[in-house]
Amino acid sequence: MNTPVYVCKGSCHAKVSEEQYNNGLTRCGAIDCTEKNQPFTKMYEFVECYELLEEDVPHNH
Ligand SMILES: [Zn+2]
Ligand SMILES: [Zn+2]
Repeated sequence: MNTPVYVCKGSCHAKVSEEQYNNGLTRCGAIDCTEKNQPFTKMYEFVECYELLEEDVPHNH
């Protein structure tokens, strides 16, 4: 089972858990970030390889 996470695509590379997101942490708050105040993007952190992908799809290496 891969883990849904929410990431900032800007320079801060923030990553928050689904729990944090559901608690209202939905956009970047980093002062110096290129995507400041932009909403996080939902991605999946793969348990086997720690990669972050936008789709929860099986893939090989
Ligand atoms: Zn950011
Ligand atoms: Zn992978």
